[in-house]
Amino acid sequence: MTFQNFSTEQLQKMDAGHHLHPFTDHKELRDAGSRIVTHAKGPFIYDSEGNEILDAMAGLWCVNIGYGYDELADVAAEQMRELPYYNSFFKCTTPTPVLLAEKIASLAPDNMNQVFFGSSGSEANDTALRLVRHFWVLEGKPEKNIIISRDNAYHGSTVAATSLGGMSAMHEQLNGAVPNIKHVMCPYYYGLAEEGETEEEFGLRAAKAVEDAIVEAGPENVAAFIAEPIQGAGGVKIPPASYWPEIQRICEKYDVLLMLDEVITGYGRTGEWFAAQSMNIKADTITTAKGLTSGYMPLSALIVGDRVAKTLVEKGGEFYHGYTYSAHPVACAVGLRNLEIIEREGMIDRVRNETGDYLLSSIEAAIGDHPLVGEVRGKGFLIAIEIVKDKASKSRHEPSGAGATAVRDHAIANNIMMRAVGDTMIMSPPLIWTREHIDMAAERVKAALAGALADLS
Ligand code: PMP
Repeated sequence: MTFQNFSTEQLQKMDAGHHLHPFTDHKELRDAGSRIVTHAKGPFIYDSEGNEILDAMAGLWCVNIGYGYDELADVAAEQMRELPYYNSFFKCTTPTPVLLAEKIASLAPDNMNQVFFGSSGSEANDTALRLVRHFWVLEGKPEKNIIISRDNAYHGSTVAATSLGGMSAMHEQLNGAVPNIKHVMCPYYYGLAEEGETEEEFGLRAAKAVEDAIVEAGPENVAAFIAEPIQGAGGVKIPPASYWPEIQRICEKYDVLLMLDEVITGYGRTGEWFAAQSMNIKADTITTAKGLTSGYMPLSALIVGDRVAKTLVEKGGEFYHGYTYSAHPVACAVGLRNLEIIEREGMIDRVRNETGDYLLSSIEAAIGDHPLVGEVRGKGFLIAIEIVKDKASKSRHEPSGAGATAVRDHAIANNIMMRAVGDTMIMSPPLIWTREHIDMAAERVKAALAGALADLS
């Protein structure tokens, strides 16, 4: 039986009857009914009502190569026939994770050479948290276990990943986070800079918040600082150029490990394989997922730097951690071929040299002057549009988030899938977007803003 035998209404009814969705107000959903996405090709998704929608979010920031690469279906089917599953516990492994780990190490920054697999970004961050704490125990400094993170960070939805993250609503529901995680301000110039403060000054102030937290806790108690190079789900917050070099200096000064969460920025989104490369950051761990398989299979890779790996290997002792699906052979086969496709098709070079700048300049040209737009910012294939009520005062619509939600609804009505995060609109398109797709997106975003302005005024 396939879903084609069911009408939209039947599927919506069953969905409402049995399916609890992630990050959803179920009362609201059941009133509205789900949009049922049935198939996709290249940069477009299609729903059960026959709408063709340009997917400016690459699914959930993950479908980097776009939809419909049959090659990945073939590779998955071949691997399933050959060996659908075996684990990498108990001194075993299977071939595809070995090949994929080697490939990731060859693409990652020079000091990053080991990989621990999971199925999601959240799992990979759980691994990262446990690994850095274990590292300091092995180093004979078990008291060094506090992790500094940032407000508004998103590191996933498991208990540890929620605790690492800085989303206050999630913390409230968690009602008891993993201990010894502290949060400091994030480098959000548009929203947090003081009157007259330059970007450079603000970046240094935001970095100093990390230093202050380390000093306050006592450096001898601080294991690591974790951050997304560009905060993604928190609103595509791109730090000023002064931020990361200062963070690097602070981490080195106090011997605090630097954990990067590149679940969104990894595998090409910023115009290099990793934002660590495009933003020149030397990390001790890099969390990756999403673009690793372009979302065709669930897979994450925690990339571990030489310093941590050396201690783990040389000191020995079991690291009591792992998942049934760590190093899943089918997911790893798909991941490997996905990276080969990204490389073969020159997707990252195109974002870096051509389409990344074109995307930002086209969106800016189309809507920069619009009365609802406070700022357009971007790096590579990540874009944020601040939705304001008044450009000069940067005031927002009431209730909080209403402006961006109106734009989001009009965007979807204009057949472009975008996301609203608070009062910010987000784009994170597949790396395959051409100039034609970008022109189409700019037109549709402009139309969405016109519709939203009519609603909001
Ligand atoms: N880290 C970041 C930066 C993310 O954006 C996400 C997901 N949006 C995660 C971690 C969690 O990944 P997952 O949903 O695969 O658990």
